[in-house]
Amino acid sequence: MNTARQTLQSVFGYAAFRPPQDEIIDTVVRGEDALVLMPTGGGKSLCYQIPSLVRPGCGVVVSPLIALMQNQVDALQQLGVRAGFLNSTLDAYQVRATEQALLSGELDLLYIAPERLIQESTLALLDRAELALFAIDEAHCVSQWGHDFRADYLRLDLLHQRYPHVPRIALTATADQRTREEIARRLDLTDAAQFIAGFDRPNIRYRIGLKHNPRQQLLRFLRDEHAGQSGIIYCLSRKKTEETAAWLQQQGFTALPYHAGLDSEKRADHQARFLREEGLIMVATVAFGMGIDKPDVRFVAHLDMPKTIEAYYQETGRAGRDGQPANAWMVYGLQDVIKLKQMMSQSEGSEAYKRAEQHRLNAMLGLCEITTCRRQTLLSYFGEQLSEPCGNCDNCLQPPDTWDGTEAAQKAISAAYRTGQRFGVNHLIDLLRGADNEKIRQFNHQELPTHGVGADLDANQWRSVYRQLVARAYLSVDVDGFGALHLEERCRPLLRGEETLHLRRDQKQKAARQQTRTPLPEDIDIDLWEALRNCRRELAEAQGVPPYVIFHDAVLQQMCLQQPDNLSALGELSGIGERKLEKYGAAFLTVLQTVRQSESRHDHLQTH
Ligand code: ADP
Ligand code: ZN
Repeated sequence: MNTARQTLQSVFGYAAFRPPQDEIIDTVVRGEDALVLMPTGGGKSLCYQIPSLVRPGCGVVVSPLIALMQNQVDALQQLGVRAGFLNSTLDAYQVRATEQALLSGELDLLYIAPERLIQESTLALLDRAELALFAIDEAHCVSQWGHDFRADYLRLDLLHQRYPHVPRIALTATADQRTREEIARRLDLTDAAQFIAGFDRPNIRYRIGLKHNPRQQLLRFLRDEHAGQSGIIYCLSRKKTEETAAWLQQQGFTALPYHAGLDSEKRADHQARFLREEGLIMVATVAFGMGIDKPDVRFVAHLDMPKTIEAYYQETGRAGRDGQPANAWMVYGLQDVIKLKQMMSQSEGSEAYKRAEQHRLNAMLGLCEITTCRRQTLLSYFGEQLSEPCGNCDNCLQPPDTWDGTEAAQKAISAAYRTGQRFGVNHLIDLLRGADNEKIRQFNHQELPTHGVGADLDANQWRSVYRQLVARAYLSVDVDGFGALHLEERCRPLLRGEETLHLRRDQKQKAARQQTRTPLPEDIDIDLWEALRNCRRELAEAQGVPPYVIFHDAVLQQMCLQQPDNLSALGELSGIGERKLEKYGAAFLTVLQTVRQSESRHDHLQTH
């Protein structure tokens, strides 16, 4: 274990493992198999990178994300790790050079796409090389249930048969039990040690608000809290990603769309720009995000509600991998619920599958509507307990008001019942509020006893009541496309007055005053910070790599706070390994020194 820790220190510049990294690494270094479940940002890559460095031979990493391999290899080479990749983007000459390096023992890590790995010619190559391990990244791609399914992953069980003595480590951030079992079974890893890391991401602040004017809400969120920062905005439809990106451009942001309908060149280009540029916003469908290990994504915003808590957690998990504060922000409304329920019932799949999906959607709705700590609910969904409310979600920071909505709920439900469960929310609200319009008269609804009994609440308040009744499964939404509301069994005790119902009082999201702008520590010298960022940008541009590959923001912040004035003090900072110290130490020390001098000159002038 000593060499593993030394490697962590000297190559990556980190002082300690985050549990259970040490156990995982220990297992693989010993030559045993491992199945690793860790949240996004948890630190999965070190779990196979360090064993690849410590064990003799080259570690082979199977990854489905061809477009990201160059980036991963660039980042490793910055650390002085001998890394390469084999995929269809290379020409014959580059392929031969990489193969040669592998065979002559000059590679520590080799990334290969699964479709390439399973070709006989590649296997014949690996037969002749010394192999440290196989890492199967994004292992949930073997699952036929998920939308990341890759048929080639199903063939990866051959690794065990062909190379029984090479340890394998499969990694994923997808949490659910079913996927985990499927991975173990299909990859022939049922005997592997399983490691499940804690799922909490304490630096992410969860906020879920009500949708009233989503574009304006988004705009305020971006301007008040994330000016100039990178983030991802998720939408349900391709069209909406394009429209939203175009609109953000008009508002002065750098924003690009991403969805599976764009041609592959454009997708690759947008992805590359997202990685390289600072302050770029990606407006995307769920097609975007897997394998994007950009550490400084400061926010993930949802303009539409995801279908499941798993999806929500995975998507929001792409924020704040560097451990710095980040926002997971979402707005949702009744229409989202109706749309999702309809999509789901129209989808293919068995009745049992659809029921399971409905169940998962209801759990997601429950998360939106709760009035207690969001993180506690999220974690308990994944089977983890958080003993205290987190203090870093909207409900903890601004506890929502609730009100006794029993009577309102009874009225709302009876409006649906008395009209034959054939009408949608808007008509029912008209009925409750005593409207006198064509549709009301057409059905003679002005004659019903419920007509006008709800004049005490306005239309928005009724909307809120209906939304919460649907979310809590008192009412269900008809799936024929008109959104008629039906009564569910659960209504009975409520209608009989045997149950009281506390509802959330919707409020416009409070002004940004209470929400922190992603903070720089207070005592940071902004001029120095900007000068260090400039230096980083120049170094990155000169090499065609993203700035964070040079140093993460957290490293620059430490430079500001500690102001080291020599190389060895600089090397003490977390995240600066030997190679980077050697390559960039002098440049950053010069910046530190120059800014200090100009500031002391300035002070000097001021005192005279
Ligand atoms: P994952 O692949 O699980 O999403 P990464 O491997 O990209 O996560 O790691 C997330 C971030 O955490 C990276 O910036 C990485 O450098 C950092 N990190 C990982 N392990 C440690 C550690 N032991 N100490 C400090 N930082 C770490
Ligand atoms: Zn909380």
